[in-house]
Amino acid sequence: MLKRFFDVKISRRDFLRKAAIFLMSIGAGVELSAFFDRKKKVKLDKETLREAMFYKRLDKDVVQCEVCFRGCIRKEGQRSFCRNKINIDGKFYSLVHSRPSAVQIDPIEKEPAYHMFPGTEILCFGTAGCNFRCKFCQNWHLSQRPIEEMDIIYELSPEDCVDIAIKKKIPTLSFTYNEPTSFYEYVYDIAKIAKEKGLHILFHSNGSMNPEPLKELLKYADAVTIDLKGFTKEFYKNTSSAKLAPVLGTLKIIKEEKKWLEIVNLHIPGLNDNPLDIKRMCRWIKEELGDDVPLHFSRFFPNYRLTNITATPIKSLEKAHQIARDAGLKYVTIGNVPGHKLNSTFCPNCQGRIIHRTHFQVLKNNMKNGKCIFCGYPIAGLWEL
Ligand code: SF4
Repeated sequence: MLKRFFDVKISRRDFLRKAAIFLMSIGAGVELSAFFDRKKKVKLDKETLREAMFYKRLDKDVVQCEVCFRGCIRKEGQRSFCRNKINIDGKFYSLVHSRPSAVQIDPIEKEPAYHMFPGTEILCFGTAGCNFRCKFCQNWHLSQRPIEEMDIIYELSPEDCVDIAIKKKIPTLSFTYNEPTSFYEYVYDIAKIAKEKGLHILFHSNGSMNPEPLKELLKYADAVTIDLKGFTKEFYKNTSSAKLAPVLGTLKIIKEEKKWLEIVNLHIPGLNDNPLDIKRMCRWIKEELGDDVPLHFSRFFPNYRLTNITATPIKSLEKAHQIARDAGLKYVTIGNVPGHKLNSTFCPNCQGRIIHRTHFQVLKNNMKNGKCIFCGYPIAGLWEL
């Protein structure tokens, strides 16, 4: 029954062409295919699938997923909203476990994670699928397609993933190109092994996991970058087919669990750039999460289903930055604008440029032992490997 979903047949030439396009589209990074087998054809059957975590059986053949707010209820043979789970004989299975479609080495700044081991590399993973439907998705070719439509499917066990990081001497693994909520079991299994081996775990998420699976995963994570895509229910509903409330709950839990947290806001002209909403968002961050959570305003470029909107004007990003600083947030940057001064991090005490960066590159690190070298002010973050 499953075979028709998973046979990926493409010519070698076509495969290489698509791989090149794919890699260029997700940005600078080092592809790692030399490290493991690249499968042109992947066959799956029930015995090879990882049973899902956090689901319950409602009836003999009906299951309900409890990983995210959607709570998909599925009968025999049905696929989930995120496209990554299937009910087979009354059990729920992940279709993407050990089958990533993107594996790369990136600079940690690309996450973005600006207050975590600056200038180091991260080993990043992504699969097919997502539990949101963002019209502006930068990685829609992964996130908005099921696994059987992937141009590339690797076979890589959690142990293999950790081995690559160790062999390449990469200190941190990250789950980032699509939503980790939609490949929860794979993230969880990798993170658990990685922590046993002394590696670090970071994930970049839309913040929609339910509290119980989130807390379970955070046991094995060091840091999380969360997309706070907007600050109104309407924006989440109309632009991402999603909800704001679960994201706010996730942000609070990450802080309660004392994990390092950074927030990204993609600033889209006319959709989520209302100064009053930005002000409310920044005040909420300061009051609920603290003034030392880094906030990154990222420049939007026309993409996927939002090609009718122009790129964010730089002035609009600078204005958002000012609103956030006026609201009392200490660490505010703007991203996707290479060379801009506000892409760097400044000491909130003496205003010295403590990390001088451009785009994903650290040009100068003016910190020592987690403190500003100019005035000795302690800077919040994870600094020592
Ligand atoms: S993680 Fe996927 S299967 Fe589970 S509730 Fe969310 S969308 Fe549905």
